Order: sequence, then C-alpha cells, then structure tokens
Amino acid sequence: MTVDEKIARLKERGALLTIQRYAVLEFLQDNDLHPTAEEIYQSLRGIYPTLSRATVYNTLEVFKQYGLVQEVNIERDKAHYDYRIDPHHHFLCRRCSRIYDVGLDRSPIGMGEWVDGHKIEEVRLYITGTCSECLKEGGNAGAP
Ligand code: ZN
Ligand code: MN
Repeated sequence: MTVDEKIARLKERGALLTIQRYAVLEFLQDNDLHPTAEEIYQSLRGIYPTLSRATVYNTLEVFKQYGLVQEVNIERDKAHYDYRIDPHHHFLCRRCSRIYDVGLDRSPIGMGEWVDGHKIEEVRLYITGTCSECLKEGGNAGAP
C-alpha cells in the first residue's frame, strides 16, 4: 500500500491529517529496519522543529488503530514499527540490534491449521541470531 493510499484511508475515516503524520508515514516507508518511536522522533525533529515526542507516539497509535502500520514486539522493552502490514516474520540481530524482514518459504505452522485443539488464525515468528552483515564483518565461516 502506498503512502497516498494509506493517507486516503485515514481521510475516509475522518482522521486528522497533519504534515507531521504524513512525515512519520513517509519515514516508515523509507526505513525498513523497523524504527522505534524514539528513533523516528530523533530523525524527524531536525526537519520538523515543532514535532514533539508525544505527537510521534500519538501518530503511531492512530496508524496502528487504522491498520496502517504494524507494531513489532521482538524486543521486550521497546516497540518497533513496520510500514508493512502483510503477515511476515522478523529476525533480530543480537550483535547490531537491526531487525530484518525474513522470507520463509514455508512457515513451520500455518493459518487455518490446528494445534492441540486450538485453531490458528495468525502466526508471527520472532527469530534471533547474527545477521548476514555482522557475519561478514566477523569473518564467521558458519554461514551457508
Ligand atoms: Zn547484525
Ligand atoms: Mn517487517
């Protein structure tokens, strides 16, 4: 979904559209490593001097409610935000803390399947390890 399509969805539902909200949405589209609210704030405050931390938090909350962004809780103590809203999985690097989208050809367990008598409706995998970039730097030969 493009930024304009997401903005259209906000407008349809009568949400207030401000330049700051637009800026947060564009920032998320351009940054696919899943920034935190604080990182978004720090990156945009130079460009939008009137932007406050509270505005960023509030904007992300609104986007989440309207289904325009997804919250990624791969780290216990902080929420990350994702422009992508389609179901996909995440990989957290233990060394550099970057969070990557990962393409898994096969999910170990899928939507519509059953486990212990429970019906699965959503599967989110949070995977941790050492990312390909860090493996290159560390000269680790363990990678395939
Ligand atoms: Zn890494
Ligand atoms: Mn993602």
